[in-house]
Amino acid sequence: MTNNLILRINGMEVKAREGMTILEAARSAGVFIPTLCYCPGLTSEGACRICLVKIEEKKKLHPACRTPVEDGMVVITDDAEIDRVRRVTLELILSNHDFNCLLCPKSGACRLQALVNRIGFDEKRLNRLKWVARDLPIDTSNPFFDFNPNKCVQCGICIRTCREIVGVDAINMAYRGYQLKVSTFGDKPFKESVCVSCGECVERCPVGALIPKNTQHPTREVKTTCAYCGIGCGLYLGVRGDAIVKARGDHSNPVNRGELCVRGRFGYHFVHSPDRLSSPLVRAYDPLERTLHGINGAAAALGKPVTRPLVKQQGEFVEISWEQAIKYLSSTLVHYKGDQFAGLSSAKCTNEENYLFQKFVRAVMGTNNVDHCARL
Ligand code: SF4
Ligand code: SF4
Ligand code: SF4
Repeated sequence: MTNNLILRINGMEVKAREGMTILEAARSAGVFIPTLCYCPGLTSEGACRICLVKIEEKKKLHPACRTPVEDGMVVITDDAEIDRVRRVTLELILSNHDFNCLLCPKSGACRLQALVNRIGFDEKRLNRLKWVARDLPIDTSNPFFDFNPNKCVQCGICIRTCREIVGVDAINMAYRGYQLKVSTFGDKPFKESVCVSCGECVERCPVGALIPKNTQHPTREVKTTCAYCGIGCGLYLGVRGDAIVKARGDHSNPVNRGELCVRGRFGYHFVHSPDRLSSPLVRAYDPLERTLHGINGAAAALGKPVTRPLVKQQGEFVEISWEQAIKYLSSTLVHYKGDQFAGLSSAKCTNEENYLFQKFVRAVMGTNNVDHCARL
């Protein structure tokens, strides 16, 4: 697409495409305009009024995130009047914000905190504006994240994310005036709503209102592919010490473009689970059946005396090596044919591995009894 409009921003000539907003044109030219409710990839609402700019020959200030560029437009993004208006706007947002930053998990990555550092506020005026701080209950019902409405700045990013990216529309603004807040349908806890716990809203919330449970900040990130299913979403695993503490989508990955489902975003705890199987386990049969199904033969084939613990005894699994497991399986499977056998494959395998598995079940085992955990 060609640049076909020319405007001036802070005296600098800027080329822009038709349909761009002032904010997009300014950012493409390296001009910073502060924002709070703006989020790339979502429709702009102009709700926070932090990005107000001046346009020559127009009386009012205009939100840069919603105002389309025009050829010949002259824009000022920064002067004493704009600064004063932004400061008062910020003070209004802060006036009922529970900003105990030291204890807030978002501290250091919070957009409101960054705005306060950049724009500043008048303490006396803020104290006059302050009304009774909100003390709404924190919704901890979701197993993966908490919602603290007292820290919400009502930017609407979560609502637009759920509607425009996820397509679930689980949340919206409810009530009016001072009571306005983000709410599920019927103001039910998140767990009782249609929310699918994908965490896309949590990822985009600019403040500490939507926060993953047990937040820990990673010290480094590792780029990888989600191991949960064959789609293969790209993600970054945040690591602290030798533990995974966070996952976020890889925006450069063409498969998921930065989005993740609940498993990819919050399901990494299995990696460190003490219950995780790290070697194959054998559960054999009762002593009578053992002879029938050749377990003694299997053990003998491994060069082990039959007294070796290859059998599930009194409800206990026995750990063996992969080599032993494969030998055991190949010697055991010869005793089954057709509908005596069924195979269940895994979404964690690649398409090719699943193809080979169904081929094995159909062509070698002679049955169509084959299925996949993603269908369950
Ligand atoms: S949301 Fe931001 S401004 Fe508010 S308490 Fe947390 S870190 Fe501080
Ligand atoms: S977690 Fe996902 S489904 Fe639930 S409210 Fe947020 S964006 Fe919507
Ligand atoms: S919960 Fe977060 S994203 Fe949603 S409106 Fe409040 S501050 Fe914005």
